[in-house]
Amino acid sequence: MKTVGLLGGMSWESTMGYYKALNEGIRSKLGGFHSAKIVMFSVDFEPIEKLQRQGKWDDAALILSEAAKKIEAAGADFLLICTNTMHKVEPQISQAIKIPILHIADTTAEVLIKNGIKTVGLLGTNFTMEQDFYKGRLQEKHNIKVIVPDITDREIIHAIIYNELCLGKIQPNSKAEYLRIIKQLSRYGAEAIILGCTEINMLIKQSDTTTPLYDTTIIHVNKALEEIAT
Ligand code: GLU
Repeated sequence: MKTVGLLGGMSWESTMGYYKALNEGIRSKLGGFHSAKIVMFSVDFEPIEKLQRQGKWDDAALILSEAAKKIEAAGADFLLICTNTMHKVEPQISQAIKIPILHIADTTAEVLIKNGIKTVGLLGTNFTMEQDFYKGRLQEKHNIKVIVPDITDREIIHAIIYNELCLGKIQPNSKAEYLRIIKQLSRYGAEAIILGCTEINMLIKQSDTTTPLYDTTIIHVNKALEEIAT
């Protein structure tokens, strides 16, 4: 069995989901007392979040690259960066290590394409919804049409992620806001919605809407489970 490396803590609320889903996946695949072989480095999110706000991405890249090197040295065969947003610095992290990184946007695109989805709504942080490393990558590299909420709704989505979900707070009115925005995106032509932030599944479940949801945490974990077994 391969050992998976988790670069986590962004936020730890969502990293718990990775840890649990990986172990559940191995148990259902292999049975008995089997569990996933995991090396995890969970960073302190406070300085990272500050660097994001200041736009100091190179400094954040340095911190994450150091953590990734430690994960590699501890014996991981491949790496998951357990956040969509910090894939902005995936190229720098990937240069610092020799083990492969399973890119969360590529992994998600693969599933969308397999299911014939051509136009998708994207929810995540403003960085993810607006920038080339994520929205652009889905469009340019994978030829998927991406619809994002308008600027007011993007602010709402972003604020709920940082002010509530990353702090473990689940609020019914925030859930209602997300569902309102999902409905709007599907009216604008989104065939499905990417939950492009690893905390959103704490707030919204597939049973809350008839619009198909693509949860990046679960898609990322499933890809890792395939990789572990090969
Ligand atoms: N976990 C989040 C994501 O998937 C946001 C936290 C972060 O800024 O890394 O984008």
